[in-house]
Amino acid sequence: MSASPSNESAVGPAPERFLDERKSMSCIHCGLCLSSCPTYLETGNENDSPRGRIYLMRALQEGRLELGAAPVRHIDLCLGCRACEAACPSGVPYGELLEHARDHIEKHHSRPWFQRFLRRVAIERIFPYPQRMRWALLPARLVKALGMDAVCPAWIRDALALIPESPSSIPIPAVVNPEGTRRVGFISGCVMSVMFGETHRNSLELLARAGFQVATPSDQVCCGALHAHSGRLDQARAFARRNIEVFEKAGVEMIVINAAGCGSTLKEYGQLLAEDPMWRDRATAFSSKVRDLSEILAEREWATPTPCASDAPIVTFHDACHLAHAQRITQPPRKMVKAAAGERYVEMPESDVCCGSAGSYNLTEPEMAARLRKRKIENILKSGAQIVVTSNPGCLLQIQAGLRAEGADHVRALHIADFLVSDRAGWRANASTATAGDSPDTGVKRASGESRAR
Ligand code: SF4
Ligand code: SF4
Repeated sequence: MSASPSNESAVGPAPERFLDERKSMSCIHCGLCLSSCPTYLETGNENDSPRGRIYLMRALQEGRLELGAAPVRHIDLCLGCRACEAACPSGVPYGELLEHARDHIEKHHSRPWFQRFLRRVAIERIFPYPQRMRWALLPARLVKALGMDAVCPAWIRDALALIPESPSSIPIPAVVNPEGTRRVGFISGCVMSVMFGETHRNSLELLARAGFQVATPSDQVCCGALHAHSGRLDQARAFARRNIEVFEKAGVEMIVINAAGCGSTLKEYGQLLAEDPMWRDRATAFSSKVRDLSEILAEREWATPTPCASDAPIVTFHDACHLAHAQRITQPPRKMVKAAAGERYVEMPESDVCCGSAGSYNLTEPEMAARLRKRKIENILKSGAQIVVTSNPGCLLQIQAGLRAEGADHVRALHIADFLVSDRAGWRANASTATAGDSPDTGVKRASGESRAR
């Protein structure tokens, strides 16, 4: 192992304990995680591997290394994809170590002004607030519509390329399918509610077809994932407390989320508030109710979809990191996508390697994000698929931008809800499990100009 940052020396311990010693010491340096780490695969640098980064975090904590640009660079370059966690035989909770290290970095390390603007303003003060994001999108869409993006600097062009051609936003009724026998809560999210209104509509329709009554409290707030992943744990905790209160009042049996990145944070509220005796138990109870959309749908029995014609599109599945690695959910969405696509389903190479989206990573680390995006698109094209299905808005935006950049117009990237709700998939819960009829009126208007996925 060669993790040896240039300025390692005796600089004194970090000003506070940020790293759980027992958890960080559980890394036995076996290196079994290295081949699953996207940044290590790209750079081959041990400092860009999970093992190397844990070494750096420990050196910072123990005062063997100064909190300077070099170690921060290697930790910044981590996607937080947690592929290493899933591969680790020693059970190192890498994601938790990373969040605490980043929290420490944000408190004690000064960044260049542009990175500060991106993180403190765009990511923390605009993205988590749907109304602010809607306003912020207006000038960006205008620049694109006028073709002015072509003369923008590369980093602005890359950011603009992520904006979908026709983002949709729809009002969601407080309760959908009130006749449903089991009441679940729905997380409307930030990016999802501003750009993926049609996907929300389709998610609610699938839940209603499965017989659920779906409550969407209007006073819910951002899940806190963007803050937690970028080292602002106190703000993430504030969002968590608010959501716990809101969904307790809603009186729901389960809480459904159709964005993998948010889902993993919601399932970890118990851990996020573990040190807060007033909230710990409530947070754990909240997290125990959270289900990814694919998880809750796959539990139901569904009518077998109509077999696909031999010229139907070839379909593949991209595992969102925070679904496959953080939540360890790989089979439920596959089961449904495979059932709908039948013999037209193919696996793509490296389906669970990060696409480079990773929350706001494609904005803060555009160069590595672009390398991973290219790698993902090459793998999609190798599979021969014409439709790639996934379950996270960030992955969708990243893959759609990558397909456009590579001129792969014959391939479409779809959210799993958009794919399943389409007529060909024919997802209707069996009568034994759906008590509210096959396709109830959800009361959610389709976004104007939008049509079904296929
Ligand atoms: S697999 Fe786990 S124990 Fe082995 S080096 Fe990686 S993080 Fe450490
Ligand atoms: S979270 Fe992802 S990018 Fe970061 S060290 Fe683990 S595998 Fe590598």
